[in-house]
Amino acid sequence: MIPLKYLLLYNPVSGKGKFKQKIAKIEAIFSAYGQTLDIYESKFQGDLINVSYNKAKDYDVFLVAGGDGTLHEVLNGVMREDFDKRPCISILPYGTANDSAAILGITKNLKKTIVRTLIEKPILVDINQANAHYFIYTLAAGVLTKISYDVSRTKVKKYGYLAYFMAGVKDIFKRYRLHLDITHDHGHVKDEYLLVLALSGNRVGGMFLNKFSKSKLNDGLLEMRLIKTPKLFRVFKVLYFFISFGRKFKQDVHLQSSFYSIKAPEDVVWNTDGEKIDCGDIEIKVHKEAIRMFVSNRRKKKYFY
Ligand SMILES: [Mg+2]
Repeated sequence: MIPLKYLLLYNPVSGKGKFKQKIAKIEAIFSAYGQTLDIYESKFQGDLINVSYNKAKDYDVFLVAGGDGTLHEVLNGVMREDFDKRPCISILPYGTANDSAAILGITKNLKKTIVRTLIEKPILVDINQANAHYFIYTLAAGVLTKISYDVSRTKVKKYGYLAYFMAGVKDIFKRYRLHLDITHDHGHVKDEYLLVLALSGNRVGGMFLNKFSKSKLNDGLLEMRLIKTPKLFRVFKVLYFFISFGRKFKQDVHLQSSFYSIKAPEDVVWNTDGEKIDCGDIEIKVHKEAIRMFVSNRRKKKYFY
């Protein structure tokens, strides 16, 4: 086996801090395959953005242990480096929310994931950009989209996923009216919406929305659903959207585009991959096949051309 340069980046706080005790096991698998592994522990929230950027050119593969937030930091560092200097990324899902890993078919079976990283070939995945921020699987605004970062760390630690659920129940009764003006590859739409949801892999908030779209993760396109505020039964509409796995209502708009230019009032808050990024106007574009990532064979068939 050709020796490659591997760096493990991990968040010691993710998923109740259980990851640290797995490191010895990971190192053992690496040495069994004649490979070595460097390790970096995140020091504070946001630390991995600069570390990933600075170390990108020195490594072939980054193993990223944590949840969606940890991966989000690493992507935002790696994407600032030139394409040919970006390392491949292998996710080890250890967070409270692991939607990115689930989309790529990466389970919590540590041994399987490590061995896949050592012997299989990664595949090029699209990475999206909204203003100065990069994201992999979702961009959203409106009802239910603030809870991923509004819920306090202490509550998440104490209640886990239930903390998000409780916040969701509260938020669903709030009145959201997003006045948006959107330009995309095929035209222009302008209306009032309750929820804007762009997904690259039919999954958000731990749920698979299989009726959302047939989008691929390497087609250079991001799909966006604009859910109109109904006159009646607003709460029912939101619930039905999720219960029906993302089915489209007649009045709603579904877009497929490589870019979006959105004019929005300052009180519209945008969330990408579960992190709050900007308010008001945003420019979104897809970087087609921007980073090599490790993906399960089943997901390669489902989500890639
Ligand atoms: Mg796509």
